[in-house]
Amino acid sequence: MIDKLDLNTKAQELREMLGEDANSPADVFSLINQIDGLTIVFYPLGDHISGICVRDHEVKLIALNSTMSYGRQRFTLAHEFYHLYFDKASGYNVCCKKFDSKGEDERRADQFASYFIAPYKSLRAAVKRICDQKELQLRDVIELEQYFGMSHLAMLWRLVSEGYLAKADFDIYSNGVISAARNLGYSDKLYKPAPVELQKKTYGYYLKQVVELRRKDLVSPGKIDELLLDAFRDDIVFGEDEEVGGEVID
Ligand SMILES: [Zn+2]
Repeated sequence: MIDKLDLNTKAQELREMLGEDANSPADVFSLINQIDGLTIVFYPLGDHISGICVRDHEVKLIALNSTMSYGRQRFTLAHEFYHLYFDKASGYNVCCKKFDSKGEDERRADQFASYFIAPYKSLRAAVKRICDQKELQLRDVIELEQYFGMSHLAMLWRLVSEGYLAKADFDIYSNGVISAARNLGYSDKLYKPAPVELQKKTYGYYLKQVVELRRKDLVSPGKIDELLLDAFRDDIVFGEDEEVGGEVID
């Protein structure tokens, strides 16, 4: 059985441990740097996998499917945090993109992610503020997901599961979100994947280790380039941004 109260508490505790307050919308990606030894890999993982978490006493690695929407990648990162911190078994998880038809552990990780992105009390307050007793319209759902930075589908699931939205509206509101969001004046970033040139990238601990090897002069410059290229960091090897004058400091 899934203990929602326990998962909401765990989500709040982890937010606080990573330096966020318990209730405000969180910049999930910025928290990566608060986790010692964590490497993040963005990679097109196909149509069925949302993310992968590998963990044991030596390795902490999260891979995210970069062809999913930005909002879903944020959600999946929070889902993988559950495996990293609260899943008792070490080893790895390969996580399914579909929200329904999952085992209990995966549903638990989804529920945790939902609370991590939109804490129970915060969502309740936001729903009250936005629609105050009225039935939620698509524009309200969009306002909520834009506020918390949650994927459209994840927000619909959450609203239905907490009784804010009728299951019948789930299907009606599932389509046409990008044009509706644009017409309401929002950016469509939440609903789109990373640009193709950013769909394969590695960040975090692995890069720090390569920098250490270079600083201590432990391997040849050619080997350093090879390690960086293995991590899809052509931008570091070839200094792409500097070459095209893409840097803006302001
Ligand atoms: Zn999972």
